[in-house]
Amino acid sequence: MSQITDRIRQLKSELPGNVMLVAVSKFHPVEAVIEAYDAGQRVFGESRPQELLSKVRSLETSGLCPDIRWHFIGHLQTNKLKMVLPYVSMVESVDSLHLLDAIDRWGAEHGKVTDILLEYHIASEDTKQGFSREEILSVMKGAACGHVRIRGLMGMATFTDDESVVRSDFSRLMSLYGEIVRLRDEGKCPAAGPDFNIRSFGMTHDYRIAVDMGADVVRIGTFIFGERTQTVK
Ligand SMILES: *Cc1c(COP(=O)(O)O)cnc(C)c1O
Repeated sequence: MSQITDRIRQLKSELPGNVMLVAVSKFHPVEAVIEAYDAGQRVFGESRPQELLSKVRSLETSGLCPDIRWHFIGHLQTNKLKMVLPYVSMVESVDSLHLLDAIDRWGAEHGKVTDILLEYHIASEDTKQGFSREEILSVMKGAACGHVRIRGLMGMATFTDDESVVRSDFSRLMSLYGEIVRLRDEGKCPAAGPDFNIRSFGMTHDYRIAVDMGADVVRIGTFIFGERTQTVK
């Protein structure tokens, strides 16, 4: 059994049944996706529009992986929406109002409602994208969008071996999520519908902590597919 199959099986047996695994296949060839799919994995994460599109096209051409689902997890420029939105079941990385509005407008023009997560900047590095707590609360208290369904929050912890730092990053996401749900239940969050129910956090080095803290979605790449190489398209 190859490593990919083995790792998918390992994760399936380890993760609680209510936690969704997104297999992050960025920088790995489509053959790696096919192998993970054959091992039972259905949801995959990509972070670059061109790479997503070339994998989508190659699977369409070959007729393989018919019920694969894609989550977009990288920074998305508004001029690339048409390369991404027709093919994904979720954009996890909505990191600006500008992008949120553009996805809504694209959806109105194309008759598609897109599920999205708001990316919450929880890490201490300022290289990571995302909204502040105040910005997210302000989006959630605003009007609901017609063609975007805000399903929850996504975050990435500080890259460190210090578990207490990771836990404190994740707990900020959990607490903001809890606050939004409370406000919604009091009728104060028009943008949060009944299906605002996803907390996406946890990657290869911290997914066990994430699951322990209540993540609904974990996004795991390296553990499944190995180290990423820059050359694969
Ligand atoms: C690359 C990436 C992951 C996966 O990271 P690994 O450490 O390889 O598991 C998860 N989430 C996002 C947003 C990513 O860009």
